[in-house]
Amino acid sequence: MITVTATVDRWNPDPLITGKAGRIIRSGGLVAFPTETVYGLGADALNPEAVRKIYEAKGRPSDNPLILHVYSPSQASQYVKMNRLAWRLTDEFWPGPLTLVLPAMDIVPSITRGGLPTAAVRMPDNPTARALIYAANTAIAAPSANLSGRPSPTDAEAVLQDMAGRIDMIVDGGSVTLGIESTVIDITNPEHVLMLRPGGMPREVIEERIGITIEAPDDTSLKRSPGTHYKHYAPSIPVKIWRKKPGRLPKSFAFMGMNPPKSLAMKKSIIFTSIENYAHGYFAGLRKLETEDVACILVEWPEGDTGLSEGLRDRISRSAGVEVSEN
Ligand code: AMP
Ligand code: MG
Repeated sequence: MITVTATVDRWNPDPLITGKAGRIIRSGGLVAFPTETVYGLGADALNPEAVRKIYEAKGRPSDNPLILHVYSPSQASQYVKMNRLAWRLTDEFWPGPLTLVLPAMDIVPSITRGGLPTAAVRMPDNPTARALIYAANTAIAAPSANLSGRPSPTDAEAVLQDMAGRIDMIVDGGSVTLGIESTVIDITNPEHVLMLRPGGMPREVIEERIGITIEAPDDTSLKRSPGTHYKHYAPSIPVKIWRKKPGRLPKSFAFMGMNPPKSLAMKKSIIFTSIENYAHGYFAGLRKLETEDVACILVEWPEGDTGLSEGLRDRISRSAGVEVSEN
């Protein structure tokens, strides 16, 4: 398969290009496209055969459900049973990096839901993404456009690295604005909202604006979000977490973070000036530093309870292959 790349102005995408991409989706093909979080690998969410191709192209385990991308809250209501809290949340936070898990309508195929009775929906804050969904005239199921287990792609070049020859088209809308995936919450029971994955919409912003407390899921509900178990976001060399404590550093390493250690063993570094920049550059940084001739990538553990710090810690711990529970 030949993968075609078409470049668009993210804010004002050429309708000929989004129209063509939309037709590919309609006819059961795969199109990678930019969202504000990371690049997505899209297919018609209502077409089981097209969705199967997503799992195949990524090498993704088939029990890991996909997010349905929509262009409006009312479109979402065709695919999930919206409750009052869902409408409030979509009112406040859509378009944006907040994914809602709700009871699925029957038209959502089982393969899109990873066999679950629920489905996840989100309206992306990116005009190109929405124009594409509108042109396709369906919901677009889209996980991140990387090979399963690799760092998520934040620009079209990273998509091409992983997906060339595996998908029909890449819509190149430049580098994404946010850099980490959406926050996923389960609002099936509005009395007990569960954090399934911290991400681009900070927990405290949702809690304060809506007046709710987001709870940690117990083991049974986490089983309902199988994606949280798999190895994720890992570059080709090991990632080690650095907590700024004095101690032994690796013999040779590349560093990523905000406060680099002083060490001759540091062969390369990417230094960020804020948590937002760190989150934005994290995945691209992993892809850049994995090509260095070093034993590992040392990444600084971001402290703090607000903003993107929780989502970034989640990505970092998964890249390093360690379990953290902080929900
Ligand atoms: P990804 O597509 O890799 O960004 O992952 C999507 C995330 O949403 C994964 O953590 C999934 O487990 C989660 N997710 C998607 N659909 C559902 C669902 N129906 N129930 C629970 N979690 C879901
Ligand atoms: Mg992913």
